[in-house]
Amino acid sequence: FISVILIYIFLLFFIISQIYLPIDYLNRMILEIKKQRFRLEEKRFLFVEFSNLQKALYEMGKLIEQQLIMLEALASNDALTNVYNRRAFEKFYNAMFIKNNMYKSLGLDATFSIIMIDIDNFKKINDTYGHDIGDKVLKSLGNLLNSKKRKSDIVARYGGEEFVIILNDTDKIDALKFSLNLLQHIKENVRIDLDGGRVLSITASMGISVFPHDSENKNILIKVADENLYHTKTNGKDGITIILNNTRYLIRNQEELENLIKSGVV
Ligand code: GH3
Ligand code: MG
Ligand code: MG
Repeated sequence: FISVILIYIFLLFFIISQIYLPIDYLNRMILEIKKQRFRLEEKRFLFVEFSNLQKALYEMGKLIEQQLIMLEALASNDALTNVYNRRAFEKFYNAMFIKNNMYKSLGLDATFSIIMIDIDNFKKINDTYGHDIGDKVLKSLGNLLNSKKRKSDIVARYGGEEFVIILNDTDKIDALKFSLNLLQHIKENVRIDLDGGRVLSITASMGISVFPHDSENKNILIKVADENLYHTKTNGKDGITIILNNTRYLIRNQEELENLIKSGVV
């Protein structure tokens, strides 16, 4: 009698551990995949059928995860210029404010800069050389901006021929240095080959605003950068406008920055 009981107990234990628990595990895996949580690992069971099923679910989950990552990248990327699109920019921009408000509530300082960039006389490029050449310029500028940005910076296409950069953890003087370098590189390195061996080059205008100095408000901070860009446009283009000590300065090269530093403005 005892041995019959023992056999029953053993059978029960066997069914629970080798059949019920694996099925339960596979069920939970399906639920995890459904909820798009992909903390998946490969697992072995006594019955090879369960192991195979587990492996198939594991592979399926990994595939769905990969495709979601690809979709997200496609949805946030500007196809022509290979930088983030406007939608992605808005997301990152919001995240910057959440992050910086959190820092502030911990009693820490936080700063970041925005650079608005608009190509000078772009309409003329389109009108003179055609839309395809215009597209090549945009593509080339996108590549340049991507190559100049640091890992924690965000480059996005804000509109047609307007780009925006978020410089993480960067104050006015460093934002100015970064954008002066960019201004130079745009002039020298965005070069499009035209028919007959001619080369097309461009210039750009920029406007900077810096959190929290120019504003702690999301909309106003963008507006300040935009107004500064407009100031560059209406004062000869090919330069950078920034507010220093409550005064607007239009700066065009390293020398002008050094003069400002010498005179104690920055
Ligand atoms: P400014 O120096 O004042 O900035 O003058 P602009 O000619 O650059 O400025 P404007 O805003 O008048 O012209 C922008 C042009 O950019 C108009 C539009 O046709 C063109 N554009 C917008 N998106 C694209 C695009 O994806 N490809 C091309 N080739 N052109 C574009
Ligand atoms: Mg424009
Ligand atoms: Mg323009």
